[in-house]
Amino acid sequence: MNPEYGKTRFDITLQPVSGKAVPVYRGEVLRISQVEGSQCVDFNCYNLHDYKEHMSVGPSAGFRKVKGDVVMTRHPKSRPMLAILEMPDSCVTDVIAPGCSAPLFKRRTGMADHTNCQHTFSECIAEYGLDAEDIHNSFNLWMNSAWTEDGKYFSSPSRNTGKKGDHVDFLALMDVLAVPVTCGGGDVSRGSNYWFKPVQIQIFETSDDLQNLTQDYTGRYLTKNSNEPAKPIRTKRELEPVPGYQPHFKNFPLKISEFSVELTDEDYHNLQILKQMGLGDDDEDAIRSAVIEWYVTNYNIADSPIRR
Ligand SMILES: [Zn+2]
Repeated sequence: MNPEYGKTRFDITLQPVSGKAVPVYRGEVLRISQVEGSQCVDFNCYNLHDYKEHMSVGPSAGFRKVKGDVVMTRHPKSRPMLAILEMPDSCVTDVIAPGCSAPLFKRRTGMADHTNCQHTFSECIAEYGLDAEDIHNSFNLWMNSAWTEDGKYFSSPSRNTGKKGDHVDFLALMDVLAVPVTCGGGDVSRGSNYWFKPVQIQIFETSDDLQNLTQDYTGRYLTKNSNEPAKPIRTKRELEPVPGYQPHFKNFPLKISEFSVELTDEDYHNLQILKQMGLGDDDEDAIRSAVIEWYVTNYNIADSPIRR
């Protein structure tokens, strides 16, 4: 059953090559909709109370985000920021392209001062005292990027598949400053099918259903380190070493203790099979790998680093 949202408290249409920085409070829903279709949307997001804790954009748990996924904040806090409550199949997401820029279009097309997402982001976040250097990598919506098996990346090898009325709903799991922008590269790529189109931005107030969902999502992720106080922000640009500085790496240097493990004939036979499967270079390596793989894979099945 779909959750019931509160009433609409914000509703604007972003005209082409524009964007808007807008606070979305914990438990509210941000909706981004296609007005005409086939418009790529770039997206930045910050903790409303600490701009340094912004969205972490990267292929965590997959190169594509889908309905039900959670978007986290960057390290060191790494907290759940947004949950994707709705995402149509026509909305392919991209977490690799950093957001188009003037230098990119100059290189690609020779156009010296083309509209671009970096500039649009910068104009939007200036309303909150941030500038171009505070823009983080973009979470891209309706962007049909692709890559080849040997790792070559193409930002828009196929046409935009967004349809009129398609929408993506993000549930805010903390108070955020959301910054959606309509991609400024629309006219020179398949990313928005060689034209610029508007996008609708709405915010729905929270409701009992949304409060329950918020609790549910955050409960799955919170760790005891999540609320460490933020450190002061440095003001000096020049980088120079701190006199007498000594790093304190965790568990460094490692203390290694050796112990022996007795194996039955059957265990020893299985160990040889693991080595033949390429899961260990020698007996010691194979048994260590097998025990740790078993532990990690079963500790949290949903987050296992190994394909089952
Ligand atoms: Zn763009």
